[in-house]
Amino acid sequence: MLVLGIETSCDETSAAIVENGRKVLSNVIYSQIDIHHQFGGVVPEIASRKHVEKISYVVDMAFKQAGLTVDDIEGVAATYGPGLVGSLLVGLSFAKALSFSKKLPFVAVNHIEGHIYANFITYPQLMPPLIVLVVSGGHTNLIVLKDFEEYEVVGKTRDDAAGEAFDKIARYLGLGYPGGPAINKIAKLGDEDKYKYPIADVEGYNFSFSGLKSAVINHVHGLWQKGEEFKVEDVAASFQKTVVNILVEKTINLSLETNIKKIAVAGGVAANTRLRDEFCKKCAEHSIEFFVPDFNYCTDNAAMIASCGYFKLQKGIVSSYRENAVPYISLVSKKS
Ligand code: ATP
Ligand code: MG
Ligand code: FE
Repeated sequence: MLVLGIETSCDETSAAIVENGRKVLSNVIYSQIDIHHQFGGVVPEIASRKHVEKISYVVDMAFKQAGLTVDDIEGVAATYGPGLVGSLLVGLSFAKALSFSKKLPFVAVNHIEGHIYANFITYPQLMPPLIVLVVSGGHTNLIVLKDFEEYEVVGKTRDDAAGEAFDKIARYLGLGYPGGPAINKIAKLGDEDKYKYPIADVEGYNFSFSGLKSAVINHVHGLWQKGEEFKVEDVAASFQKTVVNILVEKTINLSLETNIKKIAVAGGVAANTRLRDEFCKKCAEHSIEFFVPDFNYCTDNAAMIASCGYFKLQKGIVSSYRENAVPYISLVSKKS
């Protein structure tokens, strides 16, 4: 089954064609990063206008690269939330209109659930049950994925998301937007044991990153005020290590407690090489299998949306055209 996926929740306009939820025939991403870079973050009004400008072209390119036409596809999936409402509406409306005009089933996909499916693309044989850590720009979720369409969200952040902490600290340090890749890069040149930053001890499988963010910012502010010399690389590396350790520790604990010896990571922060390396090491120590998407499927892309859409359609899930864009929705546990 060939599914067209459309993703416009933030600042990437993306369209992809995926076969049977696993094989990517095309995945076109038009990123607006260069535009928003100058403002230090995404400007919602500019983002939605750019999506309107690019959506037809991006979908056209997805068909061209796959060597297919609209008559070849059998379903349309689009992100309906969470995200910027003006941005979401562009892709969602486009998808609904195309599905209606071509009489194709339409399915609305939760963006965070979509991130998980990047793993089913990278590993064509991968099947649930799985422990999944979603770490993105706006979300941090620990999930027990019992089956497709059946999962339990056992932990989330109480305040900032992991990616948000990277972005805010990078912005404070003058490293630009997006901050995650910038911190990842300069941290390689720093001493990660130089500074000890505190991390909030949150109950169970929940997280909190806002205290850590303030601690790093206050520390750097203090150093600046005192005129003390320091290396930004050391701050970045020490901060990154703190975030990585807590993410890995809680995820491994959940795997051991549930005895589900497979861990998958998803979302933009899954592109972090320090996080990937630490998971590889700790999972090997505990005989846990570790899965992480190829770099290009960690951050926002339509292939993961098409994949998630395919597995929903397989379960007979079809959305109504009344489905609207929803800016704030958290992932809630789901039983099939
Ligand atoms: P959400 O998915 O929660 O709606 P989003 O779509 O904006 O948010 P993603 O596209 O999944 O987020 O990921 C972007 C986030 O990932 C940004 O916060 C970015 O800084 C972070 N990120 C990307 N690459 C890296 C990296 N190498 N190290 C750490 N963080 C990274
Ligand atoms: Mg983005
Ligand atoms: Fe995302």
